[in-house]
Amino acid sequence: MSEMKKILEHIHALAQEGSEAGLPKFLELILHYAYDQKASDIHLESQGQNGRVRLRVDGFLKTLISFPVALTHPLISRLKVLAELDIAERRLPQDGRFHILINGLKLEYRLSICPTLNAEKAVIRLVNLNEKVLTLEELGLLPAQIKELQQVLVKPHGLILVSGPTGSGKTLTQYAMLNFLNNETHNLISIEDPVELVLSGVNQVHVNNKAGLEFHKVLRSILRQDPDIIMIGEIRDLETAEVALNAAQTGHLVLATVHANSAWDSLLRLEHIGVPRHNLLSCVRLLLAQRLIRHFCVVCNGNICEQCFDGFKGRTGIFELIHVEEKRFGNLQDIRPPDYMNMRAAGLEKVKLGLTSIVEVERVI
Ligand SMILES: [Zn+2]
Repeated sequence: MSEMKKILEHIHALAQEGSEAGLPKFLELILHYAYDQKASDIHLESQGQNGRVRLRVDGFLKTLISFPVALTHPLISRLKVLAELDIAERRLPQDGRFHILINGLKLEYRLSICPTLNAEKAVIRLVNLNEKVLTLEELGLLPAQIKELQQVLVKPHGLILVSGPTGSGKTLTQYAMLNFLNNETHNLISIEDPVELVLSGVNQVHVNNKAGLEFHKVLRSILRQDPDIIMIGEIRDLETAEVALNAAQTGHLVLATVHANSAWDSLLRLEHIGVPRHNLLSCVRLLLAQRLIRHFCVVCNGNICEQCFDGFKGRTGIFELIHVEEKRFGNLQDIRPPDYMNMRAAGLEKVKLGLTSIVEVERVI
């Protein structure tokens, strides 16, 4: 029997036993199992007569285990102890962090507890700072897109905007670009909220709004640190946008994300924040938008097996890129070449390769 199968059986046995004494082990096994399944989040909540644990894998929540509802409260208390939160407080939301050793790795978790109508609900998110940074190829970019992206990345200045909804892999894409540029001849600085991966060779700054260390303040300060390449977590306000554009216009390569649905929309979003169009067009070099799609399980290739969820396991990115040529000013419409490949077309390329289904592509776009 595989190790994970044993862990799963152990989890079920402890849930059936329903004793408080078994809870620390129960929790540890759930964290271990979730890590193995590459779950991003673990939800612990009450539903009528039962408590349940659900895991989010590849963007979908799936129930791992139900257990007697009486165990929910002691389980939440156990989590609060781990994260050094107030166990007596049950009416207000609380946030914390804790660490646990799994397979010899010290893993960090972010814990969020919120009172609901029934009982408190906990969501545990894995902060995997040790995760491997992907290469441009591994992100899921098509060969022609990689070529186009590399052409822009090797230029010494300009703005690259990465857009997509929350959870669409924008940060991983930025990390992959930084990693492509990561060598001793460049001074790379990132401003993040929070830092999601540790990149050696990059000076990573963690924004801290509570302490008054805000994006635009950090950005201004690092401009005095002789940077070549600057990564910005997200442009949310005009102040940040102005400093970022200024940096891109004065000899720096700036990688930033914007919360927008398409490559095209990212420009409109910045205009909406208050950035003048001529200013944008003078420094934007590449607009990139992305989504994550699930790809077929490699074990059963879409036929549903024990290893996967509905025939899918793991995700990859689909992208649309608009390369903005220098000196192509004037009409905003001009920057979108008639032959550019939109995200849907990029997704259909993956369908042709037999990696995913049309339904999955349509679902995420
Ligand atoms: Zn499968």
